[in-house]
Amino acid sequence: MHNMQVAQWTDGWLQQCNHLPSPNFAPRSDINDVSVVVLHNISLPPFQYGQGAVQRLFTNQITSTEDDIFLRSLTALRVSSHFFVERDGKLTQFVSCNAAAYQAGVSCFKGREGCNDFSIGIELEGCDFEPYTAAQYAQLTVLLRAICSVYPIQAVTGHEHIAPGRKTDPGHYFQWDNLRNQDLPVVTDYQWPVVG
Ligand SMILES: [Zn+2]
Repeated sequence: MHNMQVAQWTDGWLQQCNHLPSPNFAPRSDINDVSVVVLHNISLPPFQYGQGAVQRLFTNQITSTEDDIFLRSLTALRVSSHFFVERDGKLTQFVSCNAAAYQAGVSCFKGREGCNDFSIGIELEGCDFEPYTAAQYAQLTVLLRAICSVYPIQAVTGHEHIAPGRKTDPGHYFQWDNLRNQDLPVVTDYQWPVVG
């Protein structure tokens, strides 16, 4: 994103990034209750970057004729994320933030299950075994500020924190202090099992 002093949004779409609309979303039960950001990592095929396969996965374009056997195994998946930050910092949005993307799955935050309904998902291109890039941290910070400027975000957390035992991303190498140092509301205590 450039010139991000003022983030511009239209119907939940951030205007300062690429848009690749995904059909994989659901209405939110309360459009005014978007209070959590969930960070993830993804690489497709696993541990490969810049292949375009993540964008194809989120738009249901992975087919049974893929050369890669792992990609072929994903043909029936219907998943998405609001945002994807590539290794070079390139930002793409797939789902309006006013709708629920299919990103968190079975999850729980502060006793509330089904985090998709009230969260925004950001996928960082990466894996659990390698540091993220400076360009990704820079873009992520700008994106989080843009989100916090229009949504009442109370927590930025990890998929591993809302689905522990099931998910491990963004993983050991993600530098939460990078966000804490910029006064973003980081929450990294584990939110499972369901309380109350
Ligand atoms: Zn995840």
